[in-house]
Amino acid sequence: MNWEDNVRKVIPYTPGEQPVGDVIKLNTNENPYPPSPEVKKVLSEYDTSELRKYPDVYGGKLRDKLSEVYGVSRDNIFVGVGSDDVLAIAFLTFFNGREPVIFPDITYSFYDVWCDLYRIPYEMIPLNDEFRIIKEDYIRPNGGIVIPNPNAPTGVEKSVEDLEFIIKNNKGSIVIIDEAYVDFGGRSVLPLIEKYDNLLVVQTFSKSRSMAGVRIGMAFGSSKLIGYMNDVKFSINSYTMNRLTIEAGAAALEDNEYFVRTCEKVISTRERVKKQLKELGFDFPDSKANFIFATHKRVKAEDIFNAAKAKNIYVRWWNKPRIDDYLRISIGTDGEMDALVGFLREYLDGSI
Ligand code: PMP
Repeated sequence: MNWEDNVRKVIPYTPGEQPVGDVIKLNTNENPYPPSPEVKKVLSEYDTSELRKYPDVYGGKLRDKLSEVYGVSRDNIFVGVGSDDVLAIAFLTFFNGREPVIFPDITYSFYDVWCDLYRIPYEMIPLNDEFRIIKEDYIRPNGGIVIPNPNAPTGVEKSVEDLEFIIKNNKGSIVIIDEAYVDFGGRSVLPLIEKYDNLLVVQTFSKSRSMAGVRIGMAFGSSKLIGYMNDVKFSINSYTMNRLTIEAGAAALEDNEYFVRTCEKVISTRERVKKQLKELGFDFPDSKANFIFATHKRVKAEDIFNAAKAKNIYVRWWNKPRIDDYLRISIGTDGEMDALVGFLREYLDGSI
């Protein structure tokens, strides 16, 4: 017997590259703007003697502030260390049946990793040729459903009505709607948590609140769902969210005006870049996220990806079936996007 036979072997999720130095980084959907100045203020004034004590296991002030801002009771909120943490706990808590958990074939590539890790059976449901989710495909026996809205990496939004159709027709399963990108012009299903106790809505501070480095994610759902998630979380590690993060998150929520303004900036840059990419011969499904998933009519995505990287412009490319001729381009500042478009213009002209 070899000890390695008993190792839980997994093929881990591959995060986007984090290059150092002077690069234009459009590969991991980070927000190009800094967090609200309120975050800086609260962190610089923080009384570090507080750090000797354990933090509140429910996220204390952060959960209270979320309750106020999102208009839901504290019992309906779960906070975690990024939405990856929240989703990992949700998968572990709710996906424990015999039927396969279902999610789109083109989607956030962490879902199948968690399923493999936890030995959850799953089935990927193909998007149609326009990268759209067909709602009727989700009416079948299943052990749970996960749908990102807008979807990643396509950016395609599904209507609240279509999602409600899926939730309503799956009352025997938990339906997770991953709204990591919803603040960039999408519509949230959050109001539906009052109507459906099988709905879990997951959001994050990483994109629209410019705090990927702080790691805050949250889930909204019926108090029963949240209770079950807390039981699992407290069976692994009660103190996941540290005191500084709680303060920083609560401070960001104080500054709604800044949040709205930066989201609007990202949206207006996205709409401008869509027009420019079209002129350069790119095709893409309409995106409601802070990225565009684009293919070029003539030049291979892999070639553009490599040429851009050689010029220190990082976008994301996957060598995977159906999407290997697409680039996912995160929306940066106007200056960064001008540099990207300038590069593409010259490269596609053949002058680079
Ligand atoms: N869901 C989706 C669809 C994502 O693209 C991401 C970002 N990689 C996440 C969840 C996780 O983000 P975070 O853990 O930073 O909240």
